[in-house]
Amino acid sequence: MSMRRGNAPSSAETAERGLGGSPAPVGRGARRPPGAAAVHPAARNQGKRGAAPVKRPHKAAPGDAPAAAIRAPKPRKAAAVAVADRPAPARARPGAPPQATFARLRALHPDAHCELDHRSSFELLVATVLSAQTTDVLVNKVTPHLFGAYPDARALAGADPAEVAALLRRLGMGMFNQKARNVVGLARGLVEQHGGEVPRTLAELVKLPGVGRKTANVVLGVAFGAPEGVVVDTHVQRLSQRLGWTKSDKPEPIERDLAALFPQRDWDMLSHTLIFHGRRICFARKPACGGCGINDACPSAFRAENVGRKAPRSPRGGGAQA
Ligand code: SF4
Repeated sequence: MSMRRGNAPSSAETAERGLGGSPAPVGRGARRPPGAAAVHPAARNQGKRGAAPVKRPHKAAPGDAPAAAIRAPKPRKAAAVAVADRPAPARARPGAPPQATFARLRALHPDAHCELDHRSSFELLVATVLSAQTTDVLVNKVTPHLFGAYPDARALAGADPAEVAALLRRLGMGMFNQKARNVVGLARGLVEQHGGEVPRTLAELVKLPGVGRKTANVVLGVAFGAPEGVVVDTHVQRLSQRLGWTKSDKPEPIERDLAALFPQRDWDMLSHTLIFHGRRICFARKPACGGCGINDACPSAFRAENVGRKAPRSPRGGGAQA
């Protein structure tokens, strides 16, 4: 704030200009004519721009209602009307019990299943490793050729990674060198540590090259029916947040939250069902809440666009936006 040199402002000027911490009176620069009613004390705290004009007290006439009964118009009436005009979201039971919502999701997607084609736990394990950063559709296009050339762990363990990479590349798979190294290394680990068989525990699976917790739980759940955790991929992560089943945005805490909400027997199907709902209805960018069969139970219904999505990168490439 610049200070006036020489003459200090009078108290009246100070009040009018809003100096000394007092807000300017209503009507910028307006001077109060001599004898005019003083500004109501409550209005002194409304000196911000856009504050509603304060009604001057009027002289009471016989028959007037007592001052306390004279009420100012309800604030934000126009905004309230505008909200009421919008179609009301169907949210009768926000935060419905997770098990009940899951049962409804299962009824909506009775065909939910692992979409990676496979004929054995070995094929599923390799297909899941290949599915990183790509679609199940592409993996399903590649694996018949891969397993035609290398039908089991011993055959793949003896393969030249460069030949496997060339096969993956020819079939349109990205990151073919890294993926070829991963699957050949995985096959060698299976042969050396488990006689070519796929182990049945999380602890053993995650020691194999290229196998993380998510891949291990896919195999344990789908191939052996004995998951030791919930598979949290991008769809499961997004849906869990939108449905209010977790407050986290990190896979491992989300997995813990889901494992606490659902019995182990549901873990495998929970992932498949959420993945199907995410692919068919609850899209990342534009979730189809209007056509969603559980919108009355979803706390994010009709306002989910920014829930459970990865933060966009800043235009300057300076990382995720807040
Ligand atoms: S589509 Fe909408 S209502 Fe349905 S689960 Fe997703 S956010 Fe909730």
